[in-house]
Amino acid sequence: MTDKFTTPVHYDDDIDATNIEDKTVAVLGYGSQGHAHAQNLDDSGVDVVVGLPKSSSSRQAVEADGLPVATPRNAASDADIVVMLVPDTVQPDVYEDIEPALDAGDTLQFAHGFNIHYGQIEPPEDVDVTMIAPKSPGHLVRRTYKRGEGTPGLLAIYQDATGEAQQEALAYAQAIGCARAGVIETTFREETETDIFGEQAVLCGGVTDLVKAGFETLVDAGYAPEMAYFECLNELKLIVDLMYEGGHMGMWNSVSDTAEYGGLTRGEEVINREGMDEILEGVQNGEFAREWINENQANRPAYRQYRQAEQNHQVEEVGARLRELFAWDEESGETAD
Ligand code: NAD
Ligand code: MG
Repeated sequence: MTDKFTTPVHYDDDIDATNIEDKTVAVLGYGSQGHAHAQNLDDSGVDVVVGLPKSSSSRQAVEADGLPVATPRNAASDADIVVMLVPDTVQPDVYEDIEPALDAGDTLQFAHGFNIHYGQIEPPEDVDVTMIAPKSPGHLVRRTYKRGEGTPGLLAIYQDATGEAQQEALAYAQAIGCARAGVIETTFREETETDIFGEQAVLCGGVTDLVKAGFETLVDAGYAPEMAYFECLNELKLIVDLMYEGGHMGMWNSVSDTAEYGGLTRGEEVINREGMDEILEGVQNGEFAREWINENQANRPAYRQYRQAEQNHQVEEVGARLRELFAWDEESGETAD
């Protein structure tokens, strides 16, 4: 453990692998996170069974990877640790199915806190409820593990019935490679609320609306949509890569002084802090969660409309044509050098 950060961070050195050694893990779902967790656990010598419905098309992939697969209910019955790696919107249904298979002292583990934090899943009091959430998509969790490295992960304990929830969760984090990079302590509430706020205000919502507004401003003023696309969308990646590697100063140091002065003096004008506060309030008071749960129950009518509008935006049509000009590297998903 280190005191370099504001919250405890755990590494391989302070984790005891025997806390998971004799346990069986049921990994429910074999998508982005599921396939990576299951294969890393298996390579680390942990007993794994993947849980998927008989009709699931993901079953072939599990068999091709040489892992056992059972129905979610049967997988959970055999397991000491049940990991929910199906989409957040289907987790309550899957939970209903596996709940009878949770014995006293078992663990129900998540990679995102939504369903626990907003009360969509209410586990019995005699099971541990934990979270190990890699801070990266599954293919990187798998790829870095195979290289002998790992991706940072989050650890949270919602319910500690056995008194051993944290030690076991840390051993799990170690077995999927996260403790090689660092396992950061948080809570279900903090992980859920910061995650949802971030994707709405900054990452997915904020950034696409910023791009569209910039694109529309230029196009409405009579500039070529192709130029607007390059300036407002394509070049975003170069800037974000610099920020990712070196923070804001790394980026400012790499762009021209003109870009730096203009950016430092003008950027703030496009930011609406009150709007951000409102977004956070809707996340904290559960309003967004209720809206999204209702939307799913109604079979997603608004979701479909918003997606269609996004699809119809001019930036999509121009972008699709312009992206054909680039040679793409299949492996990395980036433009080839
Ligand atoms: P995914 O959509 O990639 O995969 C879902 C898997 O669940 C698929 O294998 C699918 O076949 C299976 N599935 C669907 N319905 C099912 C059912 N009824 N019963 C059993 N299996 C079913 O999901 P994901 O992105 O890996 O997300 C899993 C969890 O991990 C979520 O809680 C998510 O918030 C969290 N998470 C994801 C990421 C990420 O980068 N993708 C990162 C951190 C945490
Ligand atoms: Mg069990």
